[in-house]
Amino acid sequence: MHPHVEKILLEENQINERIQQLGQQITQDYQGKDILMVGILKGAMIFLADLVRNIEVPTFFDFMAVSSYGAGTVSSGVVRILKDLDKSIEGKHIIIVEDIVDTGLTLQYMVENIKSRGPASVKVCTLLDKPDRRKVEVPIDYNGFQIPDEFVVGFGLDYNERYRNLPYIAVLKPEIYQS
Ligand code: 5GP
Ligand code: MG
Ligand code: MG
Repeated sequence: MHPHVEKILLEENQINERIQQLGQQITQDYQGKDILMVGILKGAMIFLADLVRNIEVPTFFDFMAVSSYGAGTVSSGVVRILKDLDKSIEGKHIIIVEDIVDTGLTLQYMVENIKSRGPASVKVCTLLDKPDRRKVEVPIDYNGFQIPDEFVVGFGLDYNERYRNLPYIAVLKPEIYQS
């Protein structure tokens, strides 16, 4: 275990098993269709990489990078696009892939933004769901795990850009968050 980690919330094998299940579910739901996964950088990268290897219909992927306006203040749900999709998504079956849904504001913006581009369908897949802090209702079609209201890192999720490479989901020691 990494020395900065206080406790592991989700072990690597639990996560892998759940991602296999999500992949099977998506495979069943998208029979006869192609999928375009839209990964939200950077947090969803690890999850997306594992997820697509468990899907058995043609799966393409593209990425967006977004950042909340006015970091450090209360999230308004208005996000700035740092990197946009490479191509048009008109007529495509989109699955937005997120690392975690917290207030739901980022996802709400993303869903509206993607829908405005004329896709055939839009669904949402997130590794983690923290329902306690939800401010807006956003439909989640595929959810890996519900977790309590704690700040977590690992499996793509960061604290100040660190700890994304941890192969599990963990809570850091309080002194790490304070420094
Ligand atoms: P929302 O707009 O739903 O409040 O925030 C979503 C984004 O906030 C996530 O994509 C993620 O970047 C960040 N976030 C929310 N909760 C956590 C957490 O527990 N750990 C980390 N590392 N990021 C989080
Ligand atoms: Mg995210
Ligand atoms: Mg982050």
